[in-house]
Amino acid sequence: MNQTETAPPSTATTPQTVREFCLELVSLYGQLIDQGSGSPQLVFDRSTVSVSLLADRFITFFDLSYPLTHARLEEICEGSGITVVASKIQGHKARGGNCSYQGKTYVYYKEGDPPAAQVHSILHELFEIIERWLHGFAELRPRSHSIVEREANDFAARVQAPPARILEWINVNGFDVVGLRRKFDCSYATALIQLAEVLSTSVFTNTHDPVPMIGLLYERPTWRRNPTGRLPRLALRYFVKTPGFPFSLRKVELGRVSFHQNGRTCSLKRLAQCGSQLFLDQVDFRFDGGTYPVHVVVSHVRWRSIPQKPVKVVIQIMPAHCPSLRTLAANYGLQSSELFEED
Ligand SMILES: [Zn+2]
Repeated sequence: MNQTETAPPSTATTPQTVREFCLELVSLYGQLIDQGSGSPQLVFDRSTVSVSLLADRFITFFDLSYPLTHARLEEICEGSGITVVASKIQGHKARGGNCSYQGKTYVYYKEGDPPAAQVHSILHELFEIIERWLHGFAELRPRSHSIVEREANDFAARVQAPPARILEWINVNGFDVVGLRRKFDCSYATALIQLAEVLSTSVFTNTHDPVPMIGLLYERPTWRRNPTGRLPRLALRYFVKTPGFPFSLRKVELGRVSFHQNGRTCSLKRLAQCGSQLFLDQVDFRFDGGTYPVHVVVSHVRWRSIPQKPVKVVIQIMPAHCPSLRTLAANYGLQSSELFEED
């Protein structure tokens, strides 16, 4: 597969700290402008540096290797005068935080979070610190909290599972969300979202056509207490769709999707809850009056502590003319299954 965008060439020297990283960005993308005072001022426009460029620069600058570990991030922070603190706070929605106090900067992450989530949190907080430090050089209008939050999550995902490395990996291993998560030691959500991100800007090498994939991640919210002692139900957490399908489909419309084969019918939700890993070879995907032949792979993640039920279910759907899911099913050892009827 080819990717239609390429990362910028490296210009790294021997940088060390997050401050130096900010200085490099400003020197690369800032401009010396004489605004009439006679002495030119360095003006940096943050909008000239996209989150994806910032993430690529960060990876090159700190020469990151993968999977990216908590220890490596802590080393970068400590080397930059940023103290990383494990927070014991429970029950708060925020997964991390950062602050500056008496000239010192602190990053917090939740001690009880899984390691992949801790790495994500530290990267998220680092982005907010970088954003703040870049402000010092910028003639910036303050950006809204929600935009910075969204960009911080995007930055964290791109640094944890970088598109260029994902592309290399999937060219060898196929569109395997579970394997991708293992390779980059990230969350299933990051693996799925980043895979879709890469496929959205890629084309098949032989045909130059886009790579259409619908991906869904269902999770059992095991962190939620259930007074009856029963496991919480699987709930849809993430939905991605790459270009190349002849229809648009939004998350709120997923309930109108159905699958058909030999007179049998099944909904997406039922597929997720069926309890089996499946490969559906050439079934009809129906939505909004259209019928499209597709392949479907349903893969499960089980935890040793809850062996009886999957805690995560990944569903991937691709048009039947793309052989990629057939290869994935073969890698998982899945035989092609018949579609079952709804209970
Ligand atoms: Zn934040």
